[in-house]
Amino acid sequence: MTHTTYLGFPRIGRRRELKRALENYWRDGDAAPLLDTAKELRQRHWQLAHAAGIQIVAVNDFSLYDHVLDTAVLFDAVPDRYRALLHSDPLAGYFAMARGNRELHALEMTKWFDTNYHYIVPELHAGQRFQLNANKPLAEWLEAHALGLHARPVVLGPVSFLLLSKTIDGSDALHLLDALIPAYAELLEQLAQAGVTWIQLDEPCLVQDLDAATQQAYVAAYGALANDISPKRLLATYFGGLGENLALAASLPVDGLHVDLVRAPEQLDTVLSTLPPHRVLSAGVIDGRNIWRSHPEQVLPLLDKITASRSTDHLWLAPSCSLLHAPIDASQETSLPAHLRSWLAFAQQKLEELSLYAHTLDGNAQAKHALSEQAALLAARKQTPGVHKSDVRARVNALSPQATQRRSSLAHRRRVQTDALSLPPLPTTTIGSFPQTETLRHARAEHRAGRVDDGAYEGVLREEIERVIRFQESIGLDVLVHGEPERNDMVEYFGEQLDGFAFTRHGWVQSYGSRCVKPPIIWGDVARPQPMTVRWSRYAQSLTDKPVKGMLTGPVTVLQWSFVRDDLPRDQVCLQLALALRDEVHDLENGGIGVIQIDEPALREGLPIRHAEHAAYLDWAVRCFRIAAGGTSDATQIHTHMCYSEFNDIIEAVAALDADVISIESSRSRMELLHAFEDFRYPGSIGPGVYDIHSPRVPSQAEMVDLLERALTVLEPGQLWVNPDCGLKTRGWKETEPALLAMVEAAKQLRQSL
Ligand code: GLN
Ligand code: ZN
Repeated sequence: MTHTTYLGFPRIGRRRELKRALENYWRDGDAAPLLDTAKELRQRHWQLAHAAGIQIVAVNDFSLYDHVLDTAVLFDAVPDRYRALLHSDPLAGYFAMARGNRELHALEMTKWFDTNYHYIVPELHAGQRFQLNANKPLAEWLEAHALGLHARPVVLGPVSFLLLSKTIDGSDALHLLDALIPAYAELLEQLAQAGVTWIQLDEPCLVQDLDAATQQAYVAAYGALANDISPKRLLATYFGGLGENLALAASLPVDGLHVDLVRAPEQLDTVLSTLPPHRVLSAGVIDGRNIWRSHPEQVLPLLDKITASRSTDHLWLAPSCSLLHAPIDASQETSLPAHLRSWLAFAQQKLEELSLYAHTLDGNAQAKHALSEQAALLAARKQTPGVHKSDVRARVNALSPQATQRRSSLAHRRRVQTDALSLPPLPTTTIGSFPQTETLRHARAEHRAGRVDDGAYEGVLREEIERVIRFQESIGLDVLVHGEPERNDMVEYFGEQLDGFAFTRHGWVQSYGSRCVKPPIIWGDVARPQPMTVRWSRYAQSLTDKPVKGMLTGPVTVLQWSFVRDDLPRDQVCLQLALALRDEVHDLENGGIGVIQIDEPALREGLPIRHAEHAAYLDWAVRCFRIAAGGTSDATQIHTHMCYSEFNDIIEAVAALDADVISIESSRSRMELLHAFEDFRYPGSIGPGVYDIHSPRVPSQAEMVDLLERALTVLEPGQLWVNPDCGLKTRGWKETEPALLAMVEAAKQLRQSL
């Protein structure tokens, strides 16, 4: 009989119960309701999986904040500064590491592979000691066991754990493997003693390009963990193919291997010929990263191939990766058109699909029939109006190389723009949004609910824009913004106005901690029926003589932060978005907006995991940005914004965007990113953020002068802009006012010394 399982389940809850419980705890410090909610969610999710027909549920996939942080705590890989608190109040200590508190700043956070989930980066150092405290996985396994469920603890594997950590002394984290392995061995032993029969060790780093030393680390680690006092070990790989690491993964002394057959179906032949037949093959055949029902005509041939060469006794069917990256239940989405809803599978539906595939393999005719109905339903999708718009397709097909070009070179444009905009040296600006006040949020909610009419809502927005403009004038900023009060979210706002998008009510996915995002669904061809931002920008410009910057979200970011249709290549969807934005750029320009920012904070996160695929991605991503900005007049200054500071590997692509000005994160990294600009003479202007908008702290003028002086060691004065790290929407006016004032003063101070 074919078994079904999954690598992990979303933690947040179908109504984001965990978010609420966390935020209550952070406010009141009362742990009991949080722990109750957590327990209830775990049980609910196991039972849900069980009801969907899953035989082996995952435990320890749950986390109060992040599973990498949990792994650090599991092995006591905790920086000293948190120890006292962790000892006196473990929960408070845990959250201090996750998000800081009044005295302690948080550990760093970074993206989990190519997802929009962020993990907490453990901080290690040479000589680090590890010590096991297996309470969490043990307790969760016992909880599931008590419910009569067959459960498998999930733990991040030792090599990926080290590779995903950072060392504060620059030492090689892999050197800690010898110290870490005994703690893992002890974990396995304790689990085995409790009665655990299988453990899942996640090693997603196996789908990356690995050097010989890292491959060797895998051999050493898994060799050392292979003994009789251990549960059986499932080595889980996901987010791509194993490639040249396949032979390595298949040769490690474990009892089962999970492979991603959605992103890398082509690896199946080699997996089948390499993995010894008595090992369990956990076949990731359903996409854990998207929201679409699977296509039986793609999945069934894979299963046929597997069963032709091995017995189903050693076969598990699973989603490709943890379901953490999918929302929970598509059946809640009753406000979506029925046909669209019928195409969707969130976590729960994905587990139900898995059961259908397993039953089909086991000869169940009803399941087989259900799958053929699913195939027919999905085939009919092609004919649904809006899925295929011939004018949109024709326009993409007719795109000429010309479409990606500005009219003149960057150097020439800079001269034209300096005259047109009459800006001082070191011009000051902001990234776009201003604080989203309670009044604004309230007005938006009331408007949505129909209790405030369009006219009144519009009045609130206009008032806010005027206030933001007057404030910026009063402190002397050079390039103003309208403040984005009309936007709920930088992608949703555009998606709502474009054809081809749909929005869920409960389709939340965890981004980090209690923060969730609700990505729009791109289901059809993208077109712009009418201008989206022009009247707001024009209104703002009508209030002032200073230039007002128009504000758009770039094509790559809209793509990256949406659930993208699975029936058209991503680059084609992105080209459709680029053309829609191009029309918006031109309408802004014709409406008298001389500075236009096209935000691309997600450009970098779209980078494929494997280096060999970077160039192809960057090629189309850059092309799409250039199409959006292409054709504008020399006097129109195009800005872009990115929220990160790791530029070394993409600096050429960033330069190829051909933007006149880019703003980037850099205050937290103390201008470290400027190294990238040391060896590479960046042709455009750059605004390295001088204050961290993620923190409520108001930076001093002196601090910002210092950062700008550092910037001037690698940038020409004529290249440097002065701005915060990112938008101010999450900040309050109380800190925004003094911080921006100090920023403007810092620029003025420095101008005098130029
Ligand atoms: N213009 C957006 C804002 O200021 C940019 C946000 C972002 O980069 N994430 O809010
Ligand atoms: Zn940003």
